[in-house]
Amino acid sequence: MESSERPDPATIQPCQETMAAVAGNVYIETYGCQMNVADSELVAGILTASGYRLVNTPEEADVILVNTCAVRQHAENRVLGRVAQLGGLRRHRPHLRLGILGCMAQHQGRTLQQQAPGVSLVAGPDAYRQLPRLLAGSQDEFNLDVRLDRTECYTDLAPVREGRTNAWIPIIRGCDRFCTFCVVPFVRGRERSLPPGDILRQVEDLVAAGFREVTLLGQTVNAYRHGDTGFAALLRQVAAVDGILRIRFVSPYPAGFDAETIAVMASTPKICRALHLPVQSGSDTQLQRMRRGYTVDQYRHLVQQLRQALPDLTLTTDLITGFCGETEADFQQTLALMEEIRFDAAFMFKYSAREGTLAYRRLPDDVPEPVKTARLERMIEQQERMSLAINRKLIGQTVEVLVEGRSKRSDATEPRYYGRTEGGKVVVFGQPAPVNSLIRIALTDATAHTLFGEPLTG
Ligand code: SF4
Repeated sequence: MESSERPDPATIQPCQETMAAVAGNVYIETYGCQMNVADSELVAGILTASGYRLVNTPEEADVILVNTCAVRQHAENRVLGRVAQLGGLRRHRPHLRLGILGCMAQHQGRTLQQQAPGVSLVAGPDAYRQLPRLLAGSQDEFNLDVRLDRTECYTDLAPVREGRTNAWIPIIRGCDRFCTFCVVPFVRGRERSLPPGDILRQVEDLVAAGFREVTLLGQTVNAYRHGDTGFAALLRQVAAVDGILRIRFVSPYPAGFDAETIAVMASTPKICRALHLPVQSGSDTQLQRMRRGYTVDQYRHLVQQLRQALPDLTLTTDLITGFCGETEADFQQTLALMEEIRFDAAFMFKYSAREGTLAYRRLPDDVPEPVKTARLERMIEQQERMSLAINRKLIGQTVEVLVEGRSKRSDATEPRYYGRTEGGKVVVFGQPAPVNSLIRIALTDATAHTLFGEPLTG
């Protein structure tokens, strides 16, 4: 999957509105990519509109929904463990309903009745409109809806947003690429783009609600096309909305990244100089087996064009090691490409065979698990070293940061605050500043993942 995975579950903040009649308390826990975060916000909108109230902890809930990822077996195992744990809450709340949403729901479908015995609701990514109906069904029945819908874009529904600074806006759902390792096209269906008018209306509403940054989302976000409007034209239109300070998009697909998009990025300061451009491997043989549709040279050339037009670009990527047939020489080529491109950061994973994919059916999963693990460790070690070196070079520079709030890791006696640079790097600082303000920070320290500094006054 093209968008970066979030390792920790995110929960949606409760709606502050007082409901006239509460149908029940709902707790939503989200795993996987940003698209799942956006979908959980959508589910929160659908359920609050139906009279449910969002709560912050599973202990307060009458309904617990776990929004899931199916990209790796590990992610699915983790959800099964978590759902079993949450089922224990029934000791004190026997009426508690447990549901599984998202890609794993779509992927596993009815088999979840056996795999997750306490679960009475399973809904795939195109079935969220049906949630109030499914929840109205009997707790003793297994309520399942995993139909894929080629037209569902949820355009008319209002999400309840999690953050206050950045808002996720899905602009294209599904994927037509069918990379051989990936289950996403099977669980999220074919590509369909939202009308530009609906996207622009969302951006205007978000500005009115105080948001200053939007991230346009799609499995292959640059494949966006609706009528005559392509991705570059949409970027231009979003940037023309007054009041928006920063625009990001996740994740572009390397093979479809056109010169027009590069030109719009270079000429539009509101579009952040940050790209997450998944490469997956540095070996042409592996890229071919993955059916990625580009060669290492083509990827390299694209990065050159991007860096020529956007010299201060922050570049991140996704990498898989241990994919079918990967030799030590293939792996060395990936390490060499990482060293050559010098990504600011990378999401790195070992290959996990997924039922239903072309690789699962046709390519032997023949790299032994200990080899996969050892290669992943080497890859991570190399990336950490490079990320640290890149970040340490920034010490002494001044960066502009959009303030997001108080750092969750700081304690009450010594509060710390954080925001993000245009490149998406987290900066932690010691003095309070208003949320959503742009401040300048002199950088004093850095780790591989975080920058530290002090705000400049005046
Ligand atoms: S099929 Fe390929 S492009 Fe589509 S989501 Fe999966 S990895 Fe990304």
